Order: sequence, then structure tokens, then C-alpha cells
Amino acid sequence: MQLIDNVKKLPFVGSSYETRLQKLDIYTIDDLINHIPSRYVDFSNVVDIKDTKLGDVVTVKGEIVFLKNQYTHSGKRMQLASVKDKTGELKIFWFNQPFLLKTLYPGTKVSLSGKVSDFGGQLALVSPEYEKFEKKESLHTGALIPVYPETKGVTSKWLRSKIKYALENTKGDIDEFLPRSLIEKESLVHIKRAYTDIHFPKDIDTAEKSRKRLAFNEFLFLHLSTIYKKIEWKKRHVIYKMNVDRRNVENNFIKKLPFTLTDSQKRSIEEILKDLGKNVPMNRLLEGDVGSGKTVVAAAGAFATFLNGYQTAIMAPTQILAEQHYKTLKMLFKEHKVRVKLITAAGVKADEGVPDIIVGTHSLIHKTVNFRNVAYVVIDEQHRFGVEQRAHLTKKVGEKLKNPHSLTMTATPIPRTIALTLYGDLDLSILDELPKGRKPIKTIIVSKKKREDAYGWIKKMIKEECAQVFVICPLIDESEREGMEQVKAATEEYERLKNIFDKFDLGLLHGKQKAEEKNKIISDFRKKKYDILVSTPVIEVGIDIPNATIMVIETAERFGLAQLHQLRGRVGRGESKSYCLLFSERSTGKSRKRLEALSKTNSGFKLAELDLQIRGPGEVFGIKQHGFTNFKAANWSDTKLLKTTKDIALDVIEKPKKFKSLYKYLEKKRQIAN
Ligand code: ADP
Ligand code: MG
Repeated sequence: MQLIDNVKKLPFVGSSYETRLQKLDIYTIDDLINHIPSRYVDFSNVVDIKDTKLGDVVTVKGEIVFLKNQYTHSGKRMQLASVKDKTGELKIFWFNQPFLLKTLYPGTKVSLSGKVSDFGGQLALVSPEYEKFEKKESLHTGALIPVYPETKGVTSKWLRSKIKYALENTKGDIDEFLPRSLIEKESLVHIKRAYTDIHFPKDIDTAEKSRKRLAFNEFLFLHLSTIYKKIEWKKRHVIYKMNVDRRNVENNFIKKLPFTLTDSQKRSIEEILKDLGKNVPMNRLLEGDVGSGKTVVAAAGAFATFLNGYQTAIMAPTQILAEQHYKTLKMLFKEHKVRVKLITAAGVKADEGVPDIIVGTHSLIHKTVNFRNVAYVVIDEQHRFGVEQRAHLTKKVGEKLKNPHSLTMTATPIPRTIALTLYGDLDLSILDELPKGRKPIKTIIVSKKKREDAYGWIKKMIKEECAQVFVICPLIDESEREGMEQVKAATEEYERLKNIFDKFDLGLLHGKQKAEEKNKIISDFRKKKYDILVSTPVIEVGIDIPNATIMVIETAERFGLAQLHQLRGRVGRGESKSYCLLFSERSTGKSRKRLEALSKTNSGFKLAELDLQIRGPGEVFGIKQHGFTNFKAANWSDTKLLKTTKDIALDVIEKPKKFKSLYKYLEKKRQIAN
């Protein structure tokens, strides 16, 4: 058996198991052995039956005395058994596993692991793991037992036996690919050992060391793939060569802005202008918190491009955002003869003549849109677009191996170390400060008891301070696309609030409305025709309404930290003090911590770091939104390993001879992936 083989090569695995395993992203034997336990249960405590004590997690070995089906009071089917060893007898209960009667009989020798519980006044093992113990080795009991991410019809028990089989039959195929010197220097576990011990460790320490080795691999491969991408990119040429006239940009654009740029805006503009003058196309990510002023940074590049007589294309994820960019750009460039054009599904708005800047939604990709000479492409909120849509636009305006400069922007503040890895193929510019004079948003967690008071306060704020309010209705479905359920929830919330705020004007915004309708509602809100705008979470994406100073989020505990932070960023854009009320009925543990973190800081970067601590392994602030799959063994919070492996990856690129086996291994991985 080889790692590259399909799982169907395993005994008793046919198409139905194949389909189930796909739900766990397991296609090949290689995927199977890389299915890492999520935890272990310690069944290594083997005891005599007479020594079983209430609450202990134990393994007992003995002989089945009897086993029979029985019904509980509530009509559930259960299996009652008794097991005896030399020292005593113990009752066993299982639920709904009638098939047990076909494998366990009086006299069968079994090993049973579980927690000793009180069942109707007597000590018993309830739903223990079991295993016949004619076999010498134990797989499910009597040791540290791995528990895996499961899916319907694929239990940990099943996975254990298949993984065991796979490991035993592919040993020869798992080769060490790191040089011995490196393994020693980094105190790594040998790859073969790591695979055996991550699944069947003798103790937690061994398991942890193996996990570290596999994490090392994951980080290393990720670094390598981004470095390769970067190398490939560097082989390209710009489609239009530009001369960047820094002084002109400074005097005619930057100095004429109605505000002074922040230091990080200045630095980012510098970085972009420098790239725009090169022969290799720019491939840069501008990462900046909501409201940090990314648009003007991108616009500086557009101005430099305009001075060269070339076009800029700006793609935004929604029509509302595209419109907003259009307005902002018209405003920023009103003193110059820069022609801006807007292209969305709703139609076209343009100055006369050939446009210098074309703003739009993904309509820009459409084949009827003709560009003349686009030298610079800006993609806003890049995670909202598929990789293909992005590539499509760059390709459309470029030629084979000839690209326009490209700037992508994101408001998800991923910690720097992580961003450098995830986007390792891009150069990174970071806006880590907000423009001066912004007042921090006061964030308050509002419990059920305080709800009435909060509504009273909002009324007062509208009356006395002319505040405008966003209300984000309860989150129903997590998907990007809004279902009818979500619209229903918003409509209900809207009706409910109309009663509470009967003396005020309310608007409703949701994803099932037509684009023109949405635009009208937003523009009416901007014109203060509404005091309160009730919305589904769609407004998360960058709407800029400076007079809106209160953000109310219903069922705040349901949102992720990244999303809450983005929603909050819709207020606090004007002169007046802003507030964010997090309505939360029941929040416990992690969700409570999230809300508290939010009330403590306004910095997206700090929140991203906090999120890393709260959630621990796996999901990090907004990473899921960005469409990156999570690691199996590695953990984003392990920044030290992230750094070490980066250095090693660079070494690998520089010294192919030293890493011959690794290159061979990667070649094999590539085959497996294809
Ligand atoms: P985001 O980074 O969320 O896309 P925008 O580019 O929409 O932010 O900018 C938010 C608002 O801040 C806009 O109204 C913009 O004109 C304004 N702005 C940008 N830079 C500054 C600055 N340095 N000082 C004051 N206001 C600024
Ligand atoms: Mg923006």
C-alpha cells in the first residue's frame, strides 16, 4: 500500500465509506494518516474490578457474564451486561447498540474503558469503549486512546483501526526528508516515529513531540509554497512601464488633501510608489483596520498612474462599496482632470472621454468592458472575491507573463507574523493607526435586564444629539449569502423596533433587496431621513456614514470577533463620540471573553492577538473568511515555530543539495495532490 493510494485500498472500505471520509477531507491514505487526533483519553489506568471507584476513568479486563437488550423507562433501547474478573463483578450499560449482542457473548474476554458512574445506585461503566482482548495489543482500551474529528458513520473507533492498518502497511513509504543535522538541531522526532506516536502515543509528552514535528512540516510546506509563488511572480514583467514622479504626487495630490496623512499612510504610499516604478509588477497587500484610510493610499497610486497616462481599475465586492469609492475618488480628484467611471450591474456612470480610473464590482471582469491601458489594479476587501475572480481581472488587463501592478486591500487585521505567512507571496503594507482626531468608540455589553434602559438612552441620544443609529439584527445563518430566514429576522426586528421607537423614522436594509433599493435606503439614511437603520449583517462591508454614531448589535454572542469589530467600525467615523451596544442574552465562556475583549480595545490588531489566545489552536481572527484551510497539527499561536520554519524554508530554497530528500518528498506530495 502506498500513501498516494485511494482510501478504497483499505480492507472493507468501499464507495460508501469513501464518500463519508471525503467529508473529513480524507481521500488518500496520506490524508488518512494525517488525520490528527483532536484529543486523547487516558485509558491507561488498568484496575481490578474490586478497586473501581466512582468517578475514576479506568480500564478493566474480564469475561462477559451476560449481555441482554433492555428498555429504559423512556422507551430507549439499552444493553445491559456484566463483566467479571478474579476480584469481582461490574455492571455495564450501553445505549442503542443492539449489535453488541452479536459480537459479545457470555465468556468473551473483553477489555473495557470508561468512567465509573453511579447507575441507579450501583457502580457501572456507562457506554465504555470495548475491545476483545485475544489480541495482544490494545487499540481502543487500556492506553492513551486517540479521539478524532468524526463524521456521520465514521467513528473514532473505526478510524483508529484503519489508521493502524494504514500505518503498518505504508511504513516503507514514509521516508524522512529532513537532513539529520536539522533534525538534531531542532530536536525533532523522526517522521516515521511522529506518525506512529501521534496516533498511538505511550504518553502525552510523546504525543506532543510528534504533533510538534508534524506542525513543523505544515509550517515549512506553507512557507515553501508562498516563497515559490513569490519567485514565480518575480519572473513577470510589467505591462506598462511607469516613471513615478514623486514630487508631483506630493504637491498635487497629497498636499491638497483635506487632512494630513497618518505616518503609516505615508509609509504605505511610499512603498506603493516605489513599486510602481519597477519593472516587476507590484504584488502588494494593504492591510488596515476599518477606517484607517486605505482608499486614499490606493488613490495616491492611481494618481501616479494617471500622470503616466495609464488607467487604474478598482474592483470592490459590492455595488454600495463601488459607488462609495466612486464618490470618494471624484472628491479626491476634483481639482485634477482625472476622469472616473463607475461600472456595476446597475449601469454606468462616467465623465465624458476616456476614463482614467474605472471603479466597479466584479462586473469589471465582464467581457463587454473594455480597458485601454490599465497599469494598476486595486482590489478592495479581497477576501470577498474568489481567487479566480481576482486572477481574471489581472489577466484581462495583462498579457501572458506581463501584468499590471496589483494592490489588494483588506480590513481584516491579521497579526503581522501570520499575515507574513498567509500572504508570504505578497509584499505587505500595514496601516496600524487611525487618523488623528478619531474618538475611540465606547463599547458596552448590554444584558437582557438593561435592554429597556438602553432603548431609553438611544431615544434620548436621537432627540438631543441628533444621533443616527444602526441596528444589526440577529444573525441566523453564517454563510456569506443571506437566506430568507435572515431577511425574515431582519423584518421582524424592524417591526418590533417600529413599535418601540414609534416616534422615530426607521429604515430596513437586507440582502434580498434590489441594488437600487439598497442604494436609495443608504442614501436616505445619509441624508438623515431615518434615525435608525435596521440591517442584516450585510453592512459589515465598508459603508461610510459619518453621522451614524450608535451601533447596536443584537445577539452579539453569535458573531465572531472579526465580524463584531468590522460592524463596530461602521460608526466612529465623524466628529462626535460613538457607541457600540452589544446586546447579549446569554454569553458564556469564550463568547463572553470575545465581547469583553471588544469592550476593552478599539484596535483590530490587538483584537486579532487576543482572538489568537481565546480560540487557541485552529481558527484565528478572520482567517476562515479568507478561505485558508486550517492546520491539522500546527497552531497559529506558535509564532516561534512559525519563525524558525520560515528561516529553514529560505535555507531550503538556497541550498537544494542539502535538502535533496525534501525536494524528492515535495515532488511526491505534488503527485499525490494531482
Ligand atoms: P477604510 O480603510 O476603512 O477603507 P476609508 O478609506 O474609507 O477607510 O477612510 C475612512 C474615512 O477616513 C474616509 O472618510 C476618509 O476620507 C477619511 N480619512 C482617510 N485618511 C484620513 C486622515 N489621514 N485623516 C482624516 N481622515 C482620513
Ligand atoms: Mg474601505
